[in-house]
Amino acid sequence: MARRTKIYEGKAKIMYEGPEPGTIVQYFKDDATAFNAEKKAVIEGKGVLNNRLSEYFMTGLNLVGVPTHFIRRLNMREQLVRSCEIIPLEVIVRNFAAGSLSKRLGIEEGTQLPRPIVEYCYKDDALGDPLVSEEHIAAFGWASPQDMDDVLSLALRVNDFLTGVMYGVGIRVVDFKIEIGRVYDGDFQRLIVADEISPDSCRLWDIETGQKLDKDVFRRDLGSLTDAYSEVARRLGVMPKNTQVTKPTLIN
Ligand code: UDP
Repeated sequence: MARRTKIYEGKAKIMYEGPEPGTIVQYFKDDATAFNAEKKAVIEGKGVLNNRLSEYFMTGLNLVGVPTHFIRRLNMREQLVRSCEIIPLEVIVRNFAAGSLSKRLGIEEGTQLPRPIVEYCYKDDALGDPLVSEEHIAAFGWASPQDMDDVLSLALRVNDFLTGVMYGVGIRVVDFKIEIGRVYDGDFQRLIVADEISPDSCRLWDIETGQKLDKDVFRRDLGSLTDAYSEVARRLGVMPKNTQVTKPTLIN
């Protein structure tokens, strides 16, 4: 069998050249990293869960008219996506204070924000993905002001979709990160949601108990990350059947 061409290996995913021009195969690894890769672990099953969950969210977004890079899932760990030029920004949407916002502004974690807040960080591991303003983005040419109008609109539409879907299964979307890519259709360019949407890139709290069901379980040593992600998958009905562990039944 021909060897695939690796395009890029990141902390949680590997990208391979896809079967047709303009496509990429996105492989989800079991590696977990936090604090700019200072904390690392391999968490068995995480890649499988994130592949399924990202498929679920991206498919839903495509169906409600929010364009994404997702084409189809190929197998347990891989999905076919449209290749795009990634805008070098982490687009963060926050509904409740947590993490770096709480630290930066001294707002208690869990405080509801007056309205969703969208923030941008410049994607650069060596710099620790610093927070930047639209002034920096325009001045350094990372995206045009017109692009940023579309980025904001996409971010808020993803937020409305995610918060609604997760509310339906008793989960609060505290915040999340997305990445946006540029694609060309003939002479026209448009922006689409890229990368992944999974509990690795969201803060998800149980609405009743406040239990954390996202990567903070790993960052803050709060228990089993696969149990948390499996719970999200189970509630959404996307638990892959063949990874469910069932006890043998005794036959009398
Ligand atoms: N996030 C992410 N990748 C990053 C930074 C943040 O997916 O490199 C997500 C994170 O999981 C959370 C949201 O973006 O859902 C906001 O993160 P925050 O700025 O609070 O940073 P943190 O406290 O995670 O360092």
